[in-house]
Amino acid sequence: MEDMHIHLKTGVTDINIMRNYIEKCRELNINKVLFLDHGNRMSPKHIPVLNTPEVIKKFLENIKKVKNEYKDMDIKSGIESDFSYDEEFKEKELKNITESGVDLIIGSVHGMSKAYYKDYLKANLDMLKTYPLNIMGHLKLRKEYEDYKYLIEEIVKVASEKNIIVEINTSDRSRWNLRQLEYMLGLFKKYDTKYTIGSDAHKVEEVGYHVQEMYDKIDKILNNAKRDIEYTIVSRGTEKYGSKGYMGITKEQGGKRNLVLARHYDKYIDTYKDSFEILDKYNIKNVAVSRFELMSAINLDSITNLINEDILIIGFGNVGFSCLIHLLKNGYRNINIFTNNVKDFQKNGLDQINKIFDSSIKFVNEIGKYNTYIEATGNSDVIKNIFEITDDNTTIILLGTPRDESYFINPLDINRKNIKIIGAHELNGHTIEERRKVFKELLEENKNYNFDEFVSIYNYELNIVDKILQNKNNFIEVIKYEI
Ligand SMILES: [Zn+2]
Ligand SMILES: [Zn+2]
Repeated sequence: MEDMHIHLKTGVTDINIMRNYIEKCRELNINKVLFLDHGNRMSPKHIPVLNTPEVIKKFLENIKKVKNEYKDMDIKSGIESDFSYDEEFKEKELKNITESGVDLIIGSVHGMSKAYYKDYLKANLDMLKTYPLNIMGHLKLRKEYEDYKYLIEEIVKVASEKNIIVEINTSDRSRWNLRQLEYMLGLFKKYDTKYTIGSDAHKVEEVGYHVQEMYDKIDKILNNAKRDIEYTIVSRGTEKYGSKGYMGITKEQGGKRNLVLARHYDKYIDTYKDSFEILDKYNIKNVAVSRFELMSAINLDSITNLINEDILIIGFGNVGFSCLIHLLKNGYRNINIFTNNVKDFQKNGLDQINKIFDSSIKFVNEIGKYNTYIEATGNSDVIKNIFEITDDNTTIILLGTPRDESYFINPLDINRKNIKIIGAHELNGHTIEERRKVFKELLEENKNYNFDEFVSIYNYELNIVDKILQNKNNFIEVIKYEI
């Protein structure tokens, strides 16, 4: 594995620091490296490093020594050169790099983050045409890159003609997303352009950052590997707004799966950004249920001060079910459930819950008067009923997503009765990070109950996945991923 863009900073002249970098590379199975630092800098904010003959001489001496010490490593020396149109600077820097004697020169365009993207790309092109480079550093693909594909293609073409290698930079500053990577690899193939992978580490801890992951992604794309996601979970509440699904789980691999919390339009997920690893036993059945556990958890946790004992949960599907578990876990015991025609599996499920929590939660026959209503059906008539029956000072939590928009809440009702209403869709106000955290807790760290048992309760008489796959009227859709 290679990391062809590592800044040594003071390690340029301090051989012990340089050795630390090498040890770190060996730890990570990196056996080909390009150690470098910046030459002259355009911006006075940045400090030049490899810009005097003395420093460069010392650097090359040290490189020679470590090459001898680490014969199994392919160690290259380099300078990252700053491109500029300023003639005076350019002359100075071109002299610096051509006389340096280092193995490889990376050329990079810096300080144009606020420039028009077109100008930035043109600068890269001009750099390729006028600098004696071996590698083009961190070409950035901004959001609008698709409008400038003709320029990007020109850059790749010119690089190939001039035998300049294009760098695939893996730092957070310049890493291409999957779609961009796929596009660039296509261009590299078209023009027979070579590429290297570089972390652009600025300290020893950053060596190899995202490099292995980049190899994996490139591998998948080049080999046209099968799609990562096996199932995706679509909320019927959000699909209306154009969501194509925002949770999925990957195929099992070596006893593990990845749970993807973000949207995943791409063929391959970015396992290091929008997902985290879960054990294979947390398969789609668990996730389909625990998704609602998650919804309840993240919403109810933020409003527990509004939830008073003497609770009615309306609906005992996935949402009501997981909501009940969450309330029990948080010490609530005075809870009732209303649902139409209680089915056997629901009855059995509740029996088991009562056993595990030593509780006496019961089904009731009608929507009566309670302190807190948790609406988990999304049915407008049910919401209307609650508003009609409720007394003063109650809390109404709308966990279900109404589909039909046929019932409009009368603001006067809210005023007169002093009702507190909270809408609680799972996506509201929660970042991916927050969802990831809650989910992790649910799947891994929650010792209060055996998650598997709860899933098995729900599967007591029906196989959730098969049922859901057959029955698209369910609140959620779990779909086998096919595009
Ligand atoms: Zn740079
Ligand atoms: Zn750099």
